[in-house]
Formats: sequence, structure tokens, C-alpha cells
Amino acid sequence: MTSQDYIKLEDNYGAHNYHPLDVVIDRGEGVWVWDVEGNKYLDFLSAYSAVNQGHCHPKIIKALTDQAKKLTLTSRAFYNSVLGEYEKYITEYFGYDKVLPMNTGVEGDETAIKLARKWAYDVKGIPQYKAKIIFCEGNFHGRTMAAISASTDPECKDGFGPYLPGLDIIPFNNLAALEKELEDPNVAAFLVEPIQGEAGVLVPDEGYLKKAHELCKAKNVLLICDEVQTGLARTGKMLASDHENVRPDILILGKALSGGVIPISAVLADNEIMLVIKPGQHGSTFGGNPLAGKVAIAALQILKEENLVENADTLGKYFREEIQKVVDDLDIIKLVRGKGLLNAIVIKTSSTGKTAWDVCVELKNSGLLAKPTHRDIIRFAPPLVITKEEIEWAVNTIKNVLVKFENENTPAEEINR
Ligand code: PLP
Repeated sequence: MTSQDYIKLEDNYGAHNYHPLDVVIDRGEGVWVWDVEGNKYLDFLSAYSAVNQGHCHPKIIKALTDQAKKLTLTSRAFYNSVLGEYEKYITEYFGYDKVLPMNTGVEGDETAIKLARKWAYDVKGIPQYKAKIIFCEGNFHGRTMAAISASTDPECKDGFGPYLPGLDIIPFNNLAALEKELEDPNVAAFLVEPIQGEAGVLVPDEGYLKKAHELCKAKNVLLICDEVQTGLARTGKMLASDHENVRPDILILGKALSGGVIPISAVLADNEIMLVIKPGQHGSTFGGNPLAGKVAIAALQILKEENLVENADTLGKYFREEIQKVVDDLDIIKLVRGKGLLNAIVIKTSSTGKTAWDVCVELKNSGLLAKPTHRDIIRFAPPLVITKEEIEWAVNTIKNVLVKFENENTPAEEINR
């Protein structure tokens, strides 16, 4: 079967809820993937930062297969011989009293919202069902009803109402707006991405998260950090909130917690918050399964053993410096921004109407896989096991593609994002 055959199959039998680039990946190893025709590509997306440890990391695959032969799922109706070990490991790793294990990132967000609401009634004393949670414009927390209710993106929100009440939206990176919203005594929590990934890698001003935390603390409001995309070494620190020495009251992790092998997410908090949830009030059949426990331990060990925090920091700086030179030289590209190896470029639309999508198609034809977010932004987030030589190759490939576009097009209009 050719790539076109596989694409046709998906088109015929799958829901049309995604618009993938025309490449059918068949195999992956480290930072590289191969399509069904055997063409090799550098993965510069890492499944939206889930494959930080690289594709099919041998240590994770060994943990997976060893455990898969022994025991995969008990549900939480019974204890299993791995969960406690995993819970001890991850809580000590991040310095929290307790963890609540779930599967996907959005379930982590849902869990955090429920925890914050329950805490608001049981501990803070907010009148029943009056609790509010503050979100930021441009956020992305996933696709469930709570997440899209909090969203400001018409593409993922419109047509799915009625929406969940009790969610307030303020501009991102705006402390005055937060301070004003916090005057409401019924606010339970502020849920924020330390860097907005899907919005196009929007990095807030230095000091934003720290000050936001102080404002929350002063009003007895929980700071919840959604680090599903920014956490686990991606931004050159173990957590993006570490850049500001902020310890969120509730921390949400996902994606790279399994190195991209199976869906694993986790919500971490201290006892005062976590213990408001009693048996029967929250859970998931697969959350905390022994397979996930072993995979997550291996995935977390690799981040430290292979110095992926340092690698993301060093190579991220190098990448932005090199791409900045391209920004200085070419009209077609407006800026590069990011932290660690979570970066984005903003391109200018052109007289011929070429978009970030067209650039990504050309990058793919040159052997580098990336995906646009919005019309004019391309996110660059390779696996963190990438080497200097591979980053150099990527920089040259990106540069060559942009030069080609620059020569073909006369930039006419700028989009200010
Ligand atoms: N939160 C953030 C910040 C994300 O970037 C994502 C996914 O991109 C999610 C939550 C949702 O994760 P999942 O797709 O695993 O539900």
C-alpha cells in the first residue's frame, strides 16, 4: 500500500476531526521517523511534546513490554503491585504529597477543576456551587466540555454549547485583569499554562507567573498550572513554572509522562487539596494501571539520566539564535519565540497568499515535520534527545525553505499575533 492508499483509508473510515499533513508515518526511532515509502524525516513536533524522550525509547519500551507480560490492568477495584511504587516515585520527584493518576491531558485538567471546586466548598468555604475558576484567553486544555467551555477559540468551541458555567476568562499575561477578577470572593482557582503552547508558544512577561501566584495566595485562590505541554524538560527546566521558582498548588502533567507510548497523565497536589476527593468521587478505569506506572517511572528517569533539561535549554538557545539570524535576513518571517525546545516562528502572509501550512508542506518535502498552529505560526518542538548536529541540520533546512518562499513571494500583509 502507498501513502495515498493509507490516507484514503483514514478518509473513508475515520471521523474528519483532524487535518493531517500528507505523510504516513510507519516507524520511529529517536528523533527520526520513516514513512511507508521509506523516506526519513526529522520529527520537529514530537506529537505535541509527548515524545520528549524520542520515539520508541528502548528503556521505556522495555518497561512497557516487561510489565505487559505480567499485568496490565486491574482497575482501581483492587490494589496492584506497581501503583504505590509509581505514586511514591512521582510525588518525590516533583515534591508533592499526593498524585491522582489519569490518562489523557484533558482528564488531568478535568481532575484539577473538580479538585479546585471541591476544595472551594470543603476548605475555603465558598457557598455551594458558586465557585469560579479563572482561565486565560487563548488557552488550550483539551477537548472535553469543560475544556472547550473555557476556550476562546471558535474552532474548538462553536456549535457545542451549552457550556459549563463558573468559568471566567481574562487576557493572558495581564496581571491587572487577574487582580480585578480575584476581588470576587467566590474564585477558587486560576488555571493557566505557564507558556501557551497551542496559542502559538506565547511566552508571558518575566515575573508574570510569580506575581500571579502571589496575587492568588493573597486571596486564598489556588494556582493550577497546566504543564501538559510545557512540563517534563520541554522548556529547559523540569517544569516551565520552575523558570520563576513557582510551585503551583495543583500541577497537571501528561504527554511526555509516557514518552509518547501510552496515555498517562497525573495531577499532583498536597494533602489539604488532594484529600478533599473521597472514594467514589473521581477516577478512571485505566488511571493508575500498572503498565502506566512502570512506563511513567522509566520516562521520568530518562529525563534526568539523559540530561534532557540541560539539552533543551542549550539547544533551544542555539536554535533561537540561529533562527533569529534568518528573521533578520528575510522578510517572510516575522519573529521567533519560545523557551527551551518549545519554539515557534511567525511568518508573514504573502502577496500569493502562502501560509504556514504551505511552509510546513515544503518542510516536509525537505525532510522535516512540523505543523502550523493558526494560519501564520509554526511550532517547532523536536524530541529533547536531539543533538547539536541534528539541530544544525534542522536550522539549515528551515532556512532553505524560507529563502525559497522569500524568493517566490513578495510579502504584502502582516498578521499581528
Ligand atoms: N493541556 C495542554 C496545555 C495541552 O497542550 C494539551 C494538548 O495539546 C492538553 C491539555 C490536552 O491533552 P490531551 O490531548 O492528552 O487530552
